[in-house]
Amino acid sequence: MTDKENSPEVSKPTHHFIHQIIDGHNESGRFGGKVHTRFPPEPNGYLHIGHAKSICLNFGIAQQYDGKCNLRFDDTNPTKENIEYVESIKRDIQWLGFDWEDRLFHASDYFQQLYDYAVRLIKMDKAYIDELSAEEFAKGYKGTPTSPGKNSPYRDRPIEESLDLFERMKNGEFEEGRYLLRGKIDMSSPNMHMRDPAFYRIKHHAHYRTGEAWHIYPMYDFAHGLSDSIEGITHSLCTLEFEVHRPLYEWINETLGVYEPQQIEFARLELNYTITSKRKLLQLVEEGHVDGWDDPRMPTLAGLRRRGYTPASIRNMCERVGVARRNNIVDLSLLEFSVREDLNKIAPRRFGVLRPLKLVITNYPEGETEWVDAVNNPEDPDAGSRKMPFGRELYIDESDFMEDPPRKFFRLGPDRTVRLKFGYIVKCTGVDKTEDGSVSTVYCEYYPESKSGQDTSGIKVKGTLSWVSIPHAVPAEIRLYDRLFNVEAPAKVEEGESFLKNLNPDSLEILDKAVVEPAVRELEPGQSFQFERQGYFVADSRYSTDEKLVLNRTVTLRDDWAKQQNK
Ligand code: ATP
Ligand code: MG
Repeated sequence: MTDKENSPEVSKPTHHFIHQIIDGHNESGRFGGKVHTRFPPEPNGYLHIGHAKSICLNFGIAQQYDGKCNLRFDDTNPTKENIEYVESIKRDIQWLGFDWEDRLFHASDYFQQLYDYAVRLIKMDKAYIDELSAEEFAKGYKGTPTSPGKNSPYRDRPIEESLDLFERMKNGEFEEGRYLLRGKIDMSSPNMHMRDPAFYRIKHHAHYRTGEAWHIYPMYDFAHGLSDSIEGITHSLCTLEFEVHRPLYEWINETLGVYEPQQIEFARLELNYTITSKRKLLQLVEEGHVDGWDDPRMPTLAGLRRRGYTPASIRNMCERVGVARRNNIVDLSLLEFSVREDLNKIAPRRFGVLRPLKLVITNYPEGETEWVDAVNNPEDPDAGSRKMPFGRELYIDESDFMEDPPRKFFRLGPDRTVRLKFGYIVKCTGVDKTEDGSVSTVYCEYYPESKSGQDTSGIKVKGTLSWVSIPHAVPAEIRLYDRLFNVEAPAKVEEGESFLKNLNPDSLEILDKAVVEPAVRELEPGQSFQFERQGYFVADSRYSTDEKLVLNRTVTLRDDWAKQQNK
């Protein structure tokens, strides 16, 4: 990347095996010292946290070696791809902090070139038109990992015949499934991917970019390596499951005698309690189990953004996970840790009360408002302070008062004394109750000489509470999220069962009576903030309006989940 100024700072990149391979190439001069990677998403869904690792790796390597990184849409399957996905992918990569500049490509740009390559392979007797159905081939010819396959009866049809059929396939003369272009490689190879793999299939489906121009579309393995070759990619980084495809990747480029990139595999990022299969994520969206691809509980980048995750927190998480060749499942709490760490540094603090309980200071003058100073961020002196209204009637959180508190309850109870943060010290003198016996109002007296900043060493307090002035309170709907799945490996189910059974029925809790201090209104849209003692929040980009504040909790201040598990 050329724009070093704007490139995201990541905690110092650790040297890993891919660096070693590239350093080796640079020493031997294999690519003339050039480093050119690509991120190749298929636009058949939104990007998720696993893709973030690949994005950070591909764009990151390019930055580190002063190289380039292409964005290439791997759009060879028209039935599942569309422009909404393309746009979302571009938006998410930019949001994450990376820039492909003028290097935006599409595999579909190469359809003609790929077709010409296929024709060349047929002419070289390295590909043929098969007419076994996929099932027939799989059953009777493909063999198994431990036994060889056998040749298709169509394998030795004359080259001219294959050329003619291939052209007519392209022109749309045949129904889907009637013919297939296969590489002519080795039906007895121990590597199943080398047993005459499919290169082209018939599909009568309009493509979101090429329209009705094509009736055949290349298979992933055929299109991918050749696209890398066409673009002059040096290092084609992909996930481990493609290791067994590497001989085929190399066979295609080598047989055609075109430029050969180096494929290198690394371990996928997988998180526990999380699904990263696009097919399953699509199912969650289509069946309405979540509120769209950007539901704040989704592991998509759009969902994480709506939830309040910062790009830096995701980049740092990917850096922390590292790049290796062994698959392992990362604890979801590492992602939560990364966002806490980032927001702790940058998020302004605000006061909000999730479950309001009325508190009246009986010796405070009626109708009076005092604007007290509240520190914006103790971690960042430059963040300054704001004025917050204090008065006789306040809301505190229900959970901050107990009528019969245990000794270790460091909050308010009858005859107990607490500090109202940035305000005064108050002592509880009594309560009102509703008919059902629950406390409806807490009465206190305040110490006028205890204003924040004064010497109050003579008064012993049990704790410090946040609060919101009732006449100034801004109503808000607050959405608390929990993990979308309640088991560690949600995709792991018995035969015939669906992963949906692992959905956490309590992953969303809506609090519709919350109140917040007026300064929350003044935050920029998308600005994350901390409610003291409650967690980090952000206004929901879809539902929050000028009339109604809707806040998403990004994450709690501490790892509640770990605490629960330890119990
Ligand atoms: P599918 O092939 O099922 O559509 P995919 O997750 O492979 O899904 P792609 O759009 O093909 O989706 O992925 C784009 C790039 O992101 C690929 O290079 C892929 O290897 C990489 N990638 C996908 N998932 C992960 C993951 N969990 N961890 C790291 N890289 C990933
Ligand atoms: Mg893929």
